[in-house]
Amino acid sequence: MSNLALTRSHVLFQEAQQLLPGGVNSPVRAFRGVGGTPVFIDYAKGAYLYDVDGNRYLDYVQSWGPMILGHAYPTVVEAVVRASERGFSFGAPTQAENALAHMVIESVPSVEMIRFVNSGTEATMSALRLARAYTGRDKIIKFSGCYHGHADLLLVQAGSGVATMGLPDSPGVPTETTKNTLSVAYNDGAGVEQIFRTYPDDIAAIIVEPVAANMGLVLPQAGFLERLRHLTQHYGALLIFDEVMTGFRIGLGGAQERMNIKPDLTCFGKIIGGGLPVGAYGGRRDIMQLVAPVGAMYQAGTLSGNPLAMAAGIATLNELRKPGQYALLEHKSQVLAEGITRAIRDTGSAVRLPRIGAMFCLYFCKDPVTDYVSAKKADTARFARFFWHMLEQGIYLPPSQFESCFISLALDDAMLEETVRCVERALQEEKRS
Ligand SMILES: *Cc1c(COP(=O)(O)O)cnc(C)c1O
Repeated sequence: MSNLALTRSHVLFQEAQQLLPGGVNSPVRAFRGVGGTPVFIDYAKGAYLYDVDGNRYLDYVQSWGPMILGHAYPTVVEAVVRASERGFSFGAPTQAENALAHMVIESVPSVEMIRFVNSGTEATMSALRLARAYTGRDKIIKFSGCYHGHADLLLVQAGSGVATMGLPDSPGVPTETTKNTLSVAYNDGAGVEQIFRTYPDDIAAIIVEPVAANMGLVLPQAGFLERLRHLTQHYGALLIFDEVMTGFRIGLGGAQERMNIKPDLTCFGKIIGGGLPVGAYGGRRDIMQLVAPVGAMYQAGTLSGNPLAMAAGIATLNELRKPGQYALLEHKSQVLAEGITRAIRDTGSAVRLPRIGAMFCLYFCKDPVTDYVSAKKADTARFARFFWHMLEQGIYLPPSQFESCFISLALDDAMLEETVRCVERALQEEKRS
């Protein structure tokens, strides 16, 4: 694909590289994980993306999560159009903020109050500031391979092993900002316990993706999240679920409902904004009462609770709250997984297929993936070949081995069957090369 004659995408990418670092406004979009150059999207509708060269793709990226209904879903479009005619932003309270807050609080068991922000990054950053304010402690625990946005204090993944002292992943992040960020391997409950024993009075919070969806897709092992809940309670720390990805994706109540664990605070983003920029953090009322102006923990935003974003979020959640939607997503996901599993077997490919609800990932490796170290064993060159074979057949997957794929309600049975046929051909091609 990348060696074909110059396409319009190529030309635009050449231009973009002169204007934007790497030609993009978020790194993974540049296709560095698979080589070659990105396709430029013209528009999208339902299950499909259309690029500027007139190619059509079944979309399994969904803007990295939000577009669970499919693109330009009619009731969402209508809600945004209607809201935009009434003014874009007021910097003053609106009824729509109450409405979306009600919907999240009703859907997610642990959330009693919520604050809307503009991105997932803002949500996690603010939730951690709140946890530190509430506990009067400085240290936080995160898991390597979990992504919580690009705030300084969270740009730590550390290497293998237990409790590595936080070293920043990026230049420009002072070590003082991350020295209180302790990183542990995902699924390593014993490692977390050891940190608590070392610093019994210093840990403000654990922040975790209840399903890790930013290193491919790593599911929590039985008892892992329960142990985090138990340890935080025992040591007086807060448990923060980063459900920016899993919220409203693997169930109306997110991972916490599915796994029956109540965190103290939860972060949201992606789906709750229906594709417009939104994030949120919420949780126990006594903790949320510490947020300004009722409490002393300062956090603000010019465009927070933006009426267009609220309208998109409300319309999206309205669709998702209709009975049977998550059963339908589960069914689609299962049909696809069964087909792909068959293709993996028939082609004799060493590929793993973790899946939960409307998300899955194909790891090009033999052994099960349980944490960042095992995820990193996946063969990225094999993935890249597979990715390009899929793209050539009109299937748009995330351009990196370490991202998860998403299913939307817009995918029908015929599209799922077509996807399976493409996977089978791509796996055959990949083996041949
Ligand atoms: C996407 C994501 C974020 C960051 O959200 P942005 O809106 O990109 O800032 C944080 N946490 C998780 C789990 C995510 O998937």
